[in-house]
Amino acid sequence: MEYGDGTLSVWAGEQKPMWERSTQVPIVQSVSFGYRDVDEWTSVALGDTPGHIYSRNTNPTVAVFEERIATLEHAEAATAFATGMAAISGTLHTLLGPGSRVVSVKDTYGGTTKLFLEFLPAIGVEVDLIDTDDPDAIEASIARGCDVLYLESPTNPTLKVLDLERLAASGHAVGAVVVVDNTFATPINQRPLDLGADLVVHSATKFLGGHADALGGIVCGRSDLIERIYHYREINGATLDPFAAYLLLRSAKTLHLRVERQNANALAVARHLEQHPAIEAVYYPGLESHPGHDVAVRQMRGFGGVLSFTIRGGFDAVRSVLPRLELAHLAANLGAVETIVGPPATTSHVEMTADERAAMGIPESLVRYSAGIEDEVDLITDLDQALKAAT
Ligand SMILES: *Cc1c(COP(=O)(O)O)cnc(C)c1O
Repeated sequence: MEYGDGTLSVWAGEQKPMWERSTQVPIVQSVSFGYRDVDEWTSVALGDTPGHIYSRNTNPTVAVFEERIATLEHAEAATAFATGMAAISGTLHTLLGPGSRVVSVKDTYGGTTKLFLEFLPAIGVEVDLIDTDDPDAIEASIARGCDVLYLESPTNPTLKVLDLERLAASGHAVGAVVVVDNTFATPINQRPLDLGADLVVHSATKFLGGHADALGGIVCGRSDLIERIYHYREINGATLDPFAAYLLLRSAKTLHLRVERQNANALAVARHLEQHPAIEAVYYPGLESHPGHDVAVRQMRGFGGVLSFTIRGGFDAVRSVLPRLELAHLAANLGAVETIVGPPATTSHVEMTADERAAMGIPESLVRYSAGIEDEVDLITDLDQALKAAT
């Protein structure tokens, strides 16, 4: 069974026949599952017979979503969470404890950075966050020994690219579990497990969902690790709701089409803005000028739907240009079918102070642009009119 990404996006995880011969995965909105007798119930509860007991643990709709994304990520197994942050914190809390050590980079998602700076040190985890641009320094920290190597590529919001194959090999050399946040790329553009990672985490809220109407998270990877993370989740309780799982499954059917269009729109917008007089700098791994371009070409099949840029005139220019865009939501989200824009100060790095953002190399005049699936020419015309009116 060597199906392509489009076929897998549509079919992976679906079983036939479904409830009452429906062709669509039903929303099994049921807290628990009833049994005819105690012996059958006990057998399912002990895991000897397949089945479901209680939806905080497993649910049929959620299980199809888990299997679909695991298949797309080339993973043995997956476990779904209520949000991306629940998936990330569930993974890190499963793998780390007092006395353990994690190596990561300074440019992880804002919420993840907060886990590294605030919550994990509080339970006695040693955290070392290294400059994302300095692979030698990352490897030097890994070589001191670590339990987890946590990576994200491309990063939010300046689209830095980490060499996942090289760093995964360094992590494995010291016995670390290598985790990659693949939210920005999606399995359509990048498969971290094929590059050597042990686990992939997603905010399914973003591209996997793609319609900005459902929150979710998922972790995919080796079954022994997923079993441990599942156990943490069933007790911790941050389970994906069946209705959200249904929305995410419906979205997954068009994942390949949406991501291909978003890749094309983002690249066209990035190329256009790169030569626009009102723009200072454009950050997009698909541009030859991007410092991570060569690594991105090696490890990605498309460069993703998100770019960022700085406008001449600083934060005042940002404040005057963004409201003039007609084809964009000003909102703290990304990966949807509609284009979404926002400054990091109100989106990815809202949890940080201006000083913390400056220390991370995130200018206040930066705009994150998540390309939707609109027509490329309309997005470019809209940006031109907004930049012209404002500058
Ligand atoms: C949004 C996001 C998260 C967090 O996901 P939620 O679903 O909002 O909890 C994690 N990582 C990245 C890269 C994200 O963009």
